[in-house]
Amino acid sequence: MPEVPEKVVIIGSGPAGWAAAIYAARANLSPLVFEGAITNENSQNGTLPLGQLNLTTEVENYPGFPAGQLDGFLNSALGERRLKYDLPPVTDEKHAVTGPELMNLMRQQAENFGTRIITDDISEADLSGSPFKLKSLGGEEVEAHTVIIATGARANYLGLPSEEAFKNRGVSACAVCDGALPRFRDQPLVVVGGGDSAVEEATYLSKYASTVYLVHRRDELRASRIMAERAIKNEKIEIVWNHQIAEVLGDDENGVTGVRVSSTVEDSTKDLPAGGMFLAIGHTPNTAFLNGQIEIDDKGYIVWKKSFRTDTSVDGVFAAGDVADDNYRQAITSAGTGCMSALDAERWLGDRGLE
Ligand code: NAP
Repeated sequence: MPEVPEKVVIIGSGPAGWAAAIYAARANLSPLVFEGAITNENSQNGTLPLGQLNLTTEVENYPGFPAGQLDGFLNSALGERRLKYDLPPVTDEKHAVTGPELMNLMRQQAENFGTRIITDDISEADLSGSPFKLKSLGGEEVEAHTVIIATGARANYLGLPSEEAFKNRGVSACAVCDGALPRFRDQPLVVVGGGDSAVEEATYLSKYASTVYLVHRRDELRASRIMAERAIKNEKIEIVWNHQIAEVLGDDENGVTGVRVSSTVEDSTKDLPAGGMFLAIGHTPNTAFLNGQIEIDDKGYIVWKKSFRTDTSVDGVFAAGDVADDNYRQAITSAGTGCMSALDAERWLGDRGLE
């Protein structure tokens, strides 16, 4: 049973959440992590436990994990159950660590130091006075002296009625989750966006698709140079510059059959055949459950109130990772701010004799 009140409750289970948990656990704060609920809604929104990294393929830029044969290491580091059920099958290929592998390793590391984990969302928070009161979707109620919000961000959609109509019938915001489905094999597919996610998703989908149309509203990619060049050189990827999606085309029987794109520089439209459309147009931070109790900026990101600290507008509540970072949004920076948030919480508790 959780202590009452908890010293530290961490909400979220991406790199920020687990880094915070590892540091808090090693400081004997016995952290309690709400890692998120496994629900259809979270599956659709891309907000299942283990966060956005769990929805990606290889992670080539997380320090300490060069491409190689990681199987032996994974076997020794991860619990048997998680190795068996949660990870992609082991292959002989040399590869960089995958997102799911990295997240499961972090989770295991946090658990090894005594982190307690509840697989549920926090759906209500009362941050009006200390101790803070939190309630989960499943009805669990906890009180906490400090809270670390590490709930990350979710994928954006365009907001077109035709996009909504074909969600799960060819429209997806996660190529890695859905791209290997039989309905997308050997079909032309569309990816929307021009950032690293769009380029990564287009590259991933090019393994399965006949052609990938990367539809971008400008004439220059936002993606990092190395990833952009990979897409530009990929013969299966055709970049449709200066266009945006006007309508998703399809019918009841087949789902998505194409998209109508309109030019952003002249008055023209054209139709592209496609068995699926994948959105990669940025993210929105997951702060709805806070109900306006924490200051956010005009894009919805939690505001860090002190320079190089993770303090939010509520004393004793800290934020880490993508939920508060509109700028870097990398696995390594999320883990970094997760560590910072645990140290900030530890000092906050220490100053009040609560550690
Ligand atoms: P992003 O960098 O914000 O890019 C979003 C893209 O979507 C932009 O190209 C933007 O166009 C376009 N866009 C936004 N709203 C749109 C709309 N309504 N209609 C059409 N296009 C729209 O987002 P991201 O690609 O998800 O990347 C987020 C962060 O994660 C970045 O820091 C990125 O470096 C990082 N990331 C890293 C990796 C990696 O290193 N392996 C992989 C994925 C993501 P404009 O360019 O015209 O604004």
